Amino acid sequence: MKVSPEILNMTPYRPGKPISETQREFGLEKVIKLASNENPLGPSPKALAAVSKALSQQHFYPDPSAYEFLGTLEKMWKVPREKLSIGNGSDEIIDLLTRIFCEAGEGVLTAQAAFQAYQVSSSANRLNLYKTPLTKDSRFDLRAMAEEFLAHPERKVRLIFVANPNNPSGTFVTRAEMEDFFARLGGRDDVLLVFDEAYTEFLRAPEAASAMDYVSKVSNLVVLRTFSKAYGLAGFRVGAIVAAPEIIEIYNRVRKPFNVNDLAQVAATAAVQDIEFIEASRKVTWEGLEYFARELTRLGLKFLPSQGNFVLFDTERDAMQVYEAMLREGVILRPVLNYGMKRELRMSVGLPAENEAAIRGLEKVLPKIPKASGDYVPFRGT
Ligand SMILES: *Cc1c(COP(=O)(O)O)cnc(C)c1O
Repeated sequence: MKVSPEILNMTPYRPGKPISETQREFGLEKVIKLASNENPLGPSPKALAAVSKALSQQHFYPDPSAYEFLGTLEKMWKVPREKLSIGNGSDEIIDLLTRIFCEAGEGVLTAQAAFQAYQVSSSANRLNLYKTPLTKDSRFDLRAMAEEFLAHPERKVRLIFVANPNNPSGTFVTRAEMEDFFARLGGRDDVLLVFDEAYTEFLRAPEAASAMDYVSKVSNLVVLRTFSKAYGLAGFRVGAIVAAPEIIEIYNRVRKPFNVNDLAQVAATAAVQDIEFIEASRKVTWEGLEYFARELTRLGLKFLPSQGNFVLFDTERDAMQVYEAMLREGVILRPVLNYGMKRELRMSVGLPAENEAAIRGLEKVLPKIPKASGDYVPFRGT
């Protein structure tokens, strides 16, 4: 069996540990999962009702054009349908973009500690991934990224991924920084600027913005959205891509016609119209983030201010030990060793009782684990 070096050297993506596995391994009945940035309120109730009604129609293939779904996005997001398409989660879209717009040996650019899917898809498709250092406050440095792109034409960078907000850090780029970035790289025909907005619904900083506002002005801009986070449909696997019609047309040639199944389309169509649910998701997230900020401060732990539905904090210890100890307490957090962060853990916002259980767990386990020694600057990653 011959396997390419890029694939042999890949670090596989390790998803959050499932509840059932944790129950089995530790003999626990009650387990709280705050590991995958899922919506603690569950799916939108309107989505569930729509799915129940559609069950009896599942002997038919899904609509490959997603006519109803895209029509609803058109209305809700005020984007014409020629600029929209769908993916089996935005994960699939990330992978398709690397397959479609790059040749083997070409480059992809992102930032240090960026969402790991960019790395996985780049390696799987034999591309070189380059990473620009973060700002001092651990944010994507868009100016440095643009400069690095311009300084290295020999790398043949075809895609630039900006996660805004980023996972696992929860940091964001400002509207002013985005505008400067578009002024530098917008309109080029040799590179696509991909803004991954998986957590855009949770943005609340006044300087924050969605790249969606620029899709009609910046011809090489691609915006990704997901239904896995604020809409509560992670299990259904639905993502959306927003870009110029020429980009969407190419994307649709390569995407499988039935990549998003019918129930998923039905669920997402209902969820995107469920304004009340989105408002409730925001509220529970923002209140949870405030609670975490207060409690982590009380415990003397540093964390990054987050614009997502999770918080990255420094345990000041070997994070794997804290993670294991928390599992025994029935709380699944997310290690971020794969991002080169050995002391940090990521904790998703849950329901208030879940958040409280997580903090109680930390309060119990941390004193039993020795503090790490030596110099370490948290929240940088690799
Ligand atoms: C969760 C996440 C996604 C995508 O999730 P899908 O479930 O594949 O839609 C994309 N980007 C970032 C930064 C994420 O955190």
